[in-house]
Amino acid sequence: MAQSALQVLESQFGHTSFQGMQEEIISCVLRGEDTLIIMPTGGGKSLCYQLPALMLPHLTIVISPLIALMKDQVDALQKKGIPATYINSSLDKGERELRLLDVVNGKYKLLYVTPERFRKKEFVSAMKGVGISLLAVDEAHCITSWGHDFRPEYGRVGVIRETLGNPVTIALTATAAPETQVEIKRSLGIEDAKLFHSGIERPNLHLSVHQVFDGEERLERIVSLVDRLGGPGIVYMSLIRDLRVLEDELLRRGKTPLVYHGGLSAHERRQMQDRFFASTDAVVLATNAFGMGVDKADIRFIIHGQIPGSPEAYYQEIGRAGRDGKPSLCELIYFAEDLMIRKQFIEWANPTPDFLRSVYDLMVSWGENLYAHDLEDIASTLLLKNRRDGRAGMVVGLLRAADIIVGDFDRGNLEIVRPLRDHEEDQLIDVSKRERDLTRLLDLLKFVQADSCRRQRLFGYFGFNLDEGCGNCDICVSTDDWIAAQPFIENISGGDAPSEEACGEFHDDAPVRRGEWLLINRRHHVVVKKVEHGESGTFIEAESAGDLEIRRYDLSRVRWRRIQ
Ligand code: ADP
Ligand code: MG
Repeated sequence: MAQSALQVLESQFGHTSFQGMQEEIISCVLRGEDTLIIMPTGGGKSLCYQLPALMLPHLTIVISPLIALMKDQVDALQKKGIPATYINSSLDKGERELRLLDVVNGKYKLLYVTPERFRKKEFVSAMKGVGISLLAVDEAHCITSWGHDFRPEYGRVGVIRETLGNPVTIALTATAAPETQVEIKRSLGIEDAKLFHSGIERPNLHLSVHQVFDGEERLERIVSLVDRLGGPGIVYMSLIRDLRVLEDELLRRGKTPLVYHGGLSAHERRQMQDRFFASTDAVVLATNAFGMGVDKADIRFIIHGQIPGSPEAYYQEIGRAGRDGKPSLCELIYFAEDLMIRKQFIEWANPTPDFLRSVYDLMVSWGENLYAHDLEDIASTLLLKNRRDGRAGMVVGLLRAADIIVGDFDRGNLEIVRPLRDHEEDQLIDVSKRERDLTRLLDLLKFVQADSCRRQRLFGYFGFNLDEGCGNCDICVSTDDWIAAQPFIENISGGDAPSEEACGEFHDDAPVRRGEWLLINRRHHVVVKKVEHGESGTFIEAESAGDLEIRRYDLSRVRWRRIQ
């Protein structure tokens, strides 16, 4: 007899019960309904298609954006004995053909691919020949967030779905405001998909925004947070240049941060990621290239050194902190000048129809010599050169996706195969996207400048109501007090371990006196200013040697010891 979903969960995945909405989603998928799942990172989205894949008769195709991510997931499934594989450009041709043959012969239940794989005719025709029970589109926000990781093929997943005969589809993402949800559904052709939204409750994250007025001040704030919080943590910066400045400053102060950005080789990036994963206290300085699929439970802080591009990006990035449910800090440092950088990024991510036409004309003008040129030539002819300006690459991607060109500059086999029709540039470029990008940036700015509860603002943006202040943001409580009260700070190495009896206990026979030096939570050197013995315990007011702030502590609730 066929196993129930719960039995499969136990026997194949080794879990004893479903989490959150998993069970409901899985029964929906098994009934053949299309679904859109919005659940925070770490919420257990993968199971929602992996488990049905094992129960459905035919193949499940998983469309996933990153090759490294794919390998991790497939490795994990194979360890559990689940027949899953991937086909992508990291494999040599022979291996790809072998795997494809195995897929066609029904050896696998799950096949992971990037959307680009569907550019290959052999692959598409093979897929048409096998029965497809389910199409899973992971990280579905890629459909709408083109940005720097521009992936024209993601915009075509709806067409791919049609080619496959419109199989039952499940789209999954960690973040999507109501408008983005509509875009995802429309683009995939699953307008009637059932929405499962787990809400965005992550009460353990302390949200704060800290405004600075120059680069120095920003640096100071980041260094001081890293100093107080230890790790593991991520500091996001928009520009590699700023990342380097921060790295130098931390090195100068005796820290050894990891660094991760798009300028490193794939091998170096992988190394950084592995070191971060293995570490219990590492700090990684990164551009937003770092993090998709980061599944590390004990990330204690996410600092945005510069403003992210949208509330979605912000929420996605802070969602990497505190997956273990323990208190974690998410601080966004706001420096007004950074807005100009963001606006520039938006221009660089949004080629105009005229630009597309110019690129096409330029390629035509190269005629026979087209193969001898490259992207740089387009950029240097039509644009001011900048590494982050992705417009030339995007347009080439769009021309390829529309079957106007084939081949690659890199391989020297680029060719124009049909003309760009009159006004076709207006269909190929969605001009409203630039405006949407700007609006999203403005939405994030409103969040930054809000003087009401941060969570209420953020929830409101994602379509939820929060009746009361959250009590865990910088508007509801002071962030510095919150930091001072965190038990995780005890785990930071450095400082002597307190003796057992000194922890969280107060000895009447040795009362704390005014003027004494104490070490609180292993981190804070303070001088006692005032002592109060009350019914509920002993409280002190003490001045911190670190920042000269006076704070109040309940000695029964913090770890402390005398400094002799
Ligand atoms: P997401 O894709 O939503 O970020 P994942 O699917 O990668 O999250 O799942 C995150 C973690 O939760 C994984 O380590 C997974 O094994 C675990 N998990 C998922 N479902 C369950 C469950 N029902 N019981 C216990 N652990 C689960
Ligand atoms: Mg996932």
